[in-house]
Amino acid sequence: MQQNVEVAVVGAGMFGSAAAKYLSRAGADVMVIGSGKPDGEGRGGGGLAQFGAHHDEARIVRRMGWDPFWAAVDSRSAGRLRGIEAASGITCYHECGALALMAGSIRPRTQAMLSASKADGVTVHLISDADLRREFPALGVPPLADGVDGLLEREGAGYLNPRRLVEAQLALTTASGGRILRGAVTGIRRDEAAGLWRLQVTGGDGRHRVGAEKVLVAAGALLNQSGALPPGHTLDLRAFTEPNLLYEVDAGRLGPLRDLPTVVTVDPEDAGNANLSHYLLPPVRYPDGKWYVRIGPGMQPVVRELRTQRETHAWYAGQRVTPEQGALLARMMRLMVPGLAPVSVREACCVVDKTPTRYPYIGHLDADRTLAVAVGGNGHGARGSDEIGRLASALVLGRPWDFPLPQETFAPMAAPSDQADRGTRPDYLKPPFGLC
Ligand SMILES: Cc1cc2nc3c(=O)[nH]c(=O)nc-3n(C[C@H](O)[C@H](O)[C@H](O)COP(=O)(O)OP(=O)(O)OC[C@H]3O[C@@H](n4cnc5c(N)ncnc54)[C@H](O)[C@@H]3O)c2cc1C
Repeated sequence: MQQNVEVAVVGAGMFGSAAAKYLSRAGADVMVIGSGKPDGEGRGGGGLAQFGAHHDEARIVRRMGWDPFWAAVDSRSAGRLRGIEAASGITCYHECGALALMAGSIRPRTQAMLSASKADGVTVHLISDADLRREFPALGVPPLADGVDGLLEREGAGYLNPRRLVEAQLALTTASGGRILRGAVTGIRRDEAAGLWRLQVTGGDGRHRVGAEKVLVAAGALLNQSGALPPGHTLDLRAFTEPNLLYEVDAGRLGPLRDLPTVVTVDPEDAGNANLSHYLLPPVRYPDGKWYVRIGPGMQPVVRELRTQRETHAWYAGQRVTPEQGALLARMMRLMVPGLAPVSVREACCVVDKTPTRYPYIGHLDADRTLAVAVGGNGHGARGSDEIGRLASALVLGRPWDFPLPQETFAPMAAPSDQADRGTRPDYLKPPFGLC
């Protein structure tokens, strides 16, 4: 079946669903193309295009930022979450506060974050090691270089449910007249004669052909691998394993764990796998009805790059972290929640993407400005996804760029021609960068 639309959005994930909402609200004839729910943590029978970073129950929301771009998108998006819930009737946001444990050795950086937060109107409390132990008795304080400074956002922070936020954004898209086509884009090419992009879509109910005047590709970490881009386009976007351990906690024994905020630890020491950067989610109820405390790493060397479709598929389909990843996360958990007595521990495998700029790519790939991308959450794109989607929609519609940083900052970069020789990891692929 052939359908023609004004804008096709490839990828019904966090950026794509947000962009589609803004496009349809602006009156564009928009179709979002993406797969529905894979089973479990990203497993399923289909190809790579079904895997996404939004198939989970919790992503950290904070407004205090490591840099001006992320602070602005995170803050703007967090401020809209309650409105999205109200408009869609879908709840997706839990405010439990967000704590960043900063190494004492980067105190000037910590002070700069405090000042920037103050200037942005975000209330952040500086908390000493002793006060942290008093306020969160279940929490251990890790031995970071020169001690630990706690930055606590008590209000307007916590975690969002990415599955439900995507559901809400898609509901708001269709409420404004947008359409959703379930399936994966398996081919995309330019038809100059017709002035259209031709997309081939393979879905649960067969094959579809879509003609689109404009295309926004928001296909996440696997964009280079999943067939979402036309031939000849490969972005400088690298995909990495994101191993997690989920500690099941007896619902009747949640106790002080219930009062935990989300936590990230910022350890700047280049100490390989001994680096203590990581993130921790407080107990969250998963679809199996059980409560899990979840822990993930911060780009230590055990976080491996996924270079081929085969490696990526095996990682997702297997849902097994490596022994080294498991050992690192278990050690972190012992440090962070020393008294935790889990009923069981399970593994979960997802993927994060990294750009050399540490910012998303929000820009066009062609001179005619009909093919755009919004990709590159860099491991923490969920909380800022609404604003990133809004910026992408403005770009597609040719509206003026209304963001404090210039549009060129987000220009997509092509992958270097020699993919094989990548040498040692540059700083942007080391802790603590990209930490949730
Ligand atoms: C374990 C983990 C923990 C994280 N924690 C946090 C956190 O605490 N806070 C935070 O802000 N962020 C966090 N993130 C990052 C955040 O989830 C991502 O940055 C965000 O989901 C990126 O949005 P996206 O739209 O680029 O990609 P995704 O949300 O992955 O969406 C991409 C979509 O495109 C689809 N797709 C791919 N190829 C095709 C194709 N060919 N055709 C059609 N569809 C296609 C995929 O199926 C998917 O639905 C975490 C990520 C992981 C993996």
